[in-house]
Amino acid sequence: MRFAPSPTGPLHMGGVRTALYNYLFARAHGGTFIIRVEDTDSQRFVPGAEQYILDALDWCGIHIDEGIGAGDGTSVESQGPHAPYRQSERKAIYLKYALDLIASGNAYYAFDTAEALEELREKAEAAGGKFAYNFEVREGLETSLRLPAEEVKARIARGDQYVVRFKMPENEDVVMHDLIRGEVTINSSTLDDKVLWKSSDELPTYHLANIVDDHLMEISHVIRGEEWLPSLPLHYLLYKAFGWTETQPLFAHLPLLLKPTGQGKLSKRDGDKLGFPVFPLRWISPEGEISAGYKEDGYFPEAFVNMLALLGWNPGTEQEIFSMQELVEQFSLDRVSKSGARFQPEKARWFNQQYMHTKSNAELTNEFIPILLEKGIAWERDKIERVVGLVKERATFVNDLWELSSYFFVAPIVYDEKAVAKFWKGGGGENPKRIAALRDMLAGEVDFSAAHLEELIHSEIERREWPMGQVMNSLRLALVGASMGPGLAEICELIGKPETIFRIDNALGRL
Ligand code: GLU
Repeated sequence: MRFAPSPTGPLHMGGVRTALYNYLFARAHGGTFIIRVEDTDSQRFVPGAEQYILDALDWCGIHIDEGIGAGDGTSVESQGPHAPYRQSERKAIYLKYALDLIASGNAYYAFDTAEALEELREKAEAAGGKFAYNFEVREGLETSLRLPAEEVKARIARGDQYVVRFKMPENEDVVMHDLIRGEVTINSSTLDDKVLWKSSDELPTYHLANIVDDHLMEISHVIRGEEWLPSLPLHYLLYKAFGWTETQPLFAHLPLLLKPTGQGKLSKRDGDKLGFPVFPLRWISPEGEISAGYKEDGYFPEAFVNMLALLGWNPGTEQEIFSMQELVEQFSLDRVSKSGARFQPEKARWFNQQYMHTKSNAELTNEFIPILLEKGIAWERDKIERVVGLVKERATFVNDLWELSSYFFVAPIVYDEKAVAKFWKGGGGENPKRIAALRDMLAGEVDFSAAHLEELIHSEIERREWPMGQVMNSLRLALVGASMGPGLAEICELIGKPETIFRIDNALGRL
């Protein structure tokens, strides 16, 4: 299997899904997963895009067996049995194949200038049609089909620019098999004579390079996006022209990812417009434009991968949460749908929440500590872990942990007005005095464990026959500034005695 991105920009989530399905299929069948970089279009080359693609796959846990990025998963240098893996470095390979096709009568030289072609296009449009370089017109154009062999030689020798075009057969039904869509038939007369190789940069086009490389790299299955389906007849015919049909790969074209509305395909621009990432990682374009990424938005890679796997594939059961290993075991092309898969941002959040709940407190603490350190908070690790355990049920992202637990780490500076009126100032104005008494009692305590404090505070309130709710809520208000949070004794133990006393004194002074 291969994933063959063109480094023309960041990898869109649809591209990650293509890589993922290739990877899963390769793993399930004991295959090899190759990364080949298709960088023959120098006009569309974007610096940084290749590294971005490798980083994105690495973040997703998609490991590369061979090709660009194999090894530790991040290196752009690579060796292997089919090296090199960057088409620009394979430049010397392709001309021979283009010439073979000319020799066998399946391709020809074309010398038409860009201006001449433009003129033909304009003429056709003026007549209300569209120009196609095909069997109807090729015999009359500047090609080796018409020009004498000597003339063709002379033109090439004197350095005239030319392209090699595929000689699309006339009126041939091309019957193709797609592993997702089944049989597809196209009549070759609807297709034009695609350029395969250009003398101007001595490079092949996508079609030639792709077929030659899939052949040389012994690719058995091609899984790629639906947008390549229209190229499939040409690819079939190229395999036939080369005499490689026996070993040609099997093809599977994946359904499009659709916008959340279900209308139209999810585009790179949609993320910024609709407020969710469409890229795995944040991307900063060479012009400095920033696009959001799932990673930086706080998604777990496992959640992202899980969500992507189910965009277009279903396991045929109710199961929604899959580890990579489970995906490898269960993924199959016959459960990939033919129709577009609607992307739902709220489903992405839901997956993240599911993973949030299954992550251990220790793992989440690892991710939470840097956030705390950035705020200048350095607590003992096991206390942070307990805080995490108390609030994670309500979090979707690691970042939510701060909002849900900040009251543990910082003393309140404002107090919820409603709660102040109801509890602190309620109950005939007795509560501050009661809190002051509890403060003195707590100040004398040595054992500040939650279990002990729980018992102590309760029995004290009962002994004095104070109204339990009023006093407990007043104390809570003093400690966290509002009527929220887990058990009071738990809070006291976690923030410790000096901080507990400090917070109560603060409230007594300020309320
Ligand atoms: N380079 C092509 C792309 O960017 C590869 C298409 C294919 O897999 O054949 O998608």
